[in-house]
Amino acid sequence: MFISNEKLKKILLKAEMLDEDTWADIVKNAERLKSPVEDILRERDVIGGHFLYELIEKEVRLPYVNLKKIVLHDDVLDRFDPATVSTAKAIPYEFDKKKKTLKVAFLDPTNAALIRTLEKKYKVKILPAFTGKESYRFASKHYQTSVANRIRKVIAKIAKTTSKKTQSQAARKIFDSIVEYIYYTQPSDVHIEHLTDEGVIKLRVDGFLRDEISLPASLATEILNLIKYESSLKTDAHRQTADGRFAWNVFGEILAFRVSILPTYYGEKACLRVLDESRQKASMRELGFQEVDVGTIKKEIKRPYGLILVAGPTGSGKTSTLYALLKLLNVEGVSIATIEDPVEYSIRHINQTQVDAENGFTFAKGLREILRQDPNVIMVGEIRDNETAGIVIQSALTGHIVISTLHSNTAIESITRLRNMDIRPYLLAPTMNLVISQRLVKRICPYCRESFALDNAFLDSIDKDTGIRASLDKLKKLGLLTFQADDDVRFFRGKGCSKCSGKGMSGRVGIFEIFNVSEDIQKMILEDKPARDIQKYAESKGMLTLFEDGLTKVLAGETTIGEIMRILS
Ligand SMILES: [Zn+2]
Repeated sequence: MFISNEKLKKILLKAEMLDEDTWADIVKNAERLKSPVEDILRERDVIGGHFLYELIEKEVRLPYVNLKKIVLHDDVLDRFDPATVSTAKAIPYEFDKKKKTLKVAFLDPTNAALIRTLEKKYKVKILPAFTGKESYRFASKHYQTSVANRIRKVIAKIAKTTSKKTQSQAARKIFDSIVEYIYYTQPSDVHIEHLTDEGVIKLRVDGFLRDEISLPASLATEILNLIKYESSLKTDAHRQTADGRFAWNVFGEILAFRVSILPTYYGEKACLRVLDESRQKASMRELGFQEVDVGTIKKEIKRPYGLILVAGPTGSGKTSTLYALLKLLNVEGVSIATIEDPVEYSIRHINQTQVDAENGFTFAKGLREILRQDPNVIMVGEIRDNETAGIVIQSALTGHIVISTLHSNTAIESITRLRNMDIRPYLLAPTMNLVISQRLVKRICPYCRESFALDNAFLDSIDKDTGIRASLDKLKKLGLLTFQADDDVRFFRGKGCSKCSGKGMSGRVGIFEIFNVSEDIQKMILEDKPARDIQKYAESKGMLTLFEDGLTKVLAGETTIGEIMRILS
């Protein structure tokens, strides 16, 4: 942040966003966790993102620009070359031909020397504004094509040489650019494979694996060697599987990778899981939780004991939710221990351990060890078996907050799952605090989003499968819809543009079902009532189903109705 903490404090106090005590607490936590104050404000849902910047804008004599909210034109963006954008952390966003002035968004707009250098280099008068990290990263995606082209150019040049030394040097250079490309495109996984006669690098973006860059087989081998070297793995072993991890610095931010190497028929294959820490900084609101749900969750995790479950299939974003919960709990005076498979992100002051099945260190075994370490909060990566389920329930009953995940389709189905794992109703009823069930849906690309009116015939056609009319009525009654009359209902879609590679969608957001175990529901669990009765009761008390929470996001223009139906079918 380009303003001092003292100044930031003044701004926040003046805006009545917090009081002296909360500020002191935030600063203390920032020091304890060695994180910027800005990040802690966001993680604790005090104030985050553009709300914070808009406040700052009023106090400093510089405009704030949210690059996600304005239309960015390619010819203006291209006024700076990609190297300038990444080193100066600056994005040009508006050009006045007559006056020869260029509006530029900086992460730090107070660096006068830098601005003068840029004015000289690009022969324009710069009008500086400031923007946030997320917005900067969002806009800098524009330059990803030029990075990909740069990688292809280097590869083409190297392909002509046969010298081993040049190839290994080139591997490092190419990998540097690949990480830069990863920074922009934000894939979840990167595959480096050997085909019969060449190598290929594939990226998984928003769940879809794309073939991105082909390269000579020998160069793919060099890159694999580099990855093995960085992960402290044997570079001379080619016929065995291996796991490791390493980190790479890109523009001053750390990208960490979890590496898995597999020997295949034509050479080795590496799969890198991208552990992008900036994604784990997201607050609950940014993950897609509704304001009221954040309130419920904050209340439930502050109870002295009990179980909080996150349910959903693989790839539904459970891990991000777990980490967001842990961050809310991570304050002085609370001892937190985890057993994970594997540890994906390290968080300061949390004692994280990971499962090592080969050596008998299972979830159950790890959990027993952790209990001897005097924890207040325990996070168990997943409840997979009866033994783990048993210890989890015991721990939750004996004064611990336990957070875990479960493979189940709906929140209430997790009761059935735990019952099937031999957990008795009299143990289950007093321990269950909260179950969050979730899915990830694709977001509509903000650049090419358009709205359209719904016709009744379409509503009727999907009403049979989804009960959408009843859901709309329910949302209206709960005050979650802003419009009044039926003819006001509008849905949204992405037309497809250059920013989203014509897909109309970009990035993902969570949809949630928040099942809060009230006293009434405890009683129903105790009486071993069927899951569908409990479901009906919870819904009658205002619980939104995954479909209904999704519908609020459809009506807010964040995603499409088709996407919600696809993910829930
Ligand atoms: Zn688009």
